[in-house]
Amino acid sequence: MIAIHRLLALLLILAAGNHLTRFATVARAADADGKLRIICFGAHPDDAEYKAGGTAAKWAALGHHVKFVSVTNGDIGHWQIAGGPLAQRRTAEVKDAAKILGIETEVLDIHDGELLPTLENRRALTRLIREWKADVVIAHRPNDYHPDHRYTGILVQDAAFMVTVPFFCPDTPSLKDNPVFLYFSDGFQKPNPFSADVIVSIDDVLDKKIAAVHALPSQAYEGGASGSEEFMKPIPKDEAGRKAWAIQTHGGRYAAVANRFRDALVKWYGPERGKDVKYAEAFEVCEYGRRPTPEELKKLFPFFGE
Ligand SMILES: [Zn+2]
Repeated sequence: MIAIHRLLALLLILAAGNHLTRFATVARAADADGKLRIICFGAHPDDAEYKAGGTAAKWAALGHHVKFVSVTNGDIGHWQIAGGPLAQRRTAEVKDAAKILGIETEVLDIHDGELLPTLENRRALTRLIREWKADVVIAHRPNDYHPDHRYTGILVQDAAFMVTVPFFCPDTPSLKDNPVFLYFSDGFQKPNPFSADVIVSIDDVLDKKIAAVHALPSQAYEGGASGSEEFMKPIPKDEAGRKAWAIQTHGGRYAAVANRFRDALVKWYGPERGKDVKYAEAFEVCEYGRRPTPEELKKLFPFFGE
């Protein structure tokens, strides 16, 4: 009997050892490719696409690894339909957008409009950041019009130190280096307006970004939770007409970012290139992760050239 127990114990140790070796090999392979690893958390299946889709496409084109996470499943984000079918539709939409952008995507199965900054959700986001071995994490600022946006911002802030703490969620290896955490741009003024600490021209990937927007018809063309039959009336039904409409309306938002933060564009691109940028995405550095120098930001956002 004792011999059998010993044999079983030995087999268990061997199996665990094999598993650990495999895990370590996978981790090394991911580290070894020398590419950046970026994870963006939007509250709904469209937020990260709208706020960082162009920059994500630029990272992906250089071989860097980008993942978008929607923290809720978007299941009340439409004026006409809701529930499981809407969650499934929106998950399929962001999967299509991810293919266009060259990134990965995941939708967490949390009800839209019901996200709370709980310990369970803090753990979930901490594990996702660790599993992605993120160098860069981007999310909403915690002052935003939608409660899911606010709590996504809070949850990511809450993870910004905990990702490095080994005995918080000890089932998922902690990160040795704290990532750089940033925020998507927004127009809210209180308690403080958004600061464009980094700004990226998306002129060269506007087609791709508009194609990604085009892949989200429930939001882009049907208006999501704020839509209506009236809203949809002036929007073209054909592909080409819709894309032109998307360039006008959504493109207009990225042009507004470029114009609002023209000084930042000049700072990052120089006066000649900076004044010519038409469409941009901007990001603010969060105080709670690693604090990057301007040189490090240039390495994390390798788009500015010399
Ligand atoms: Zn949203």
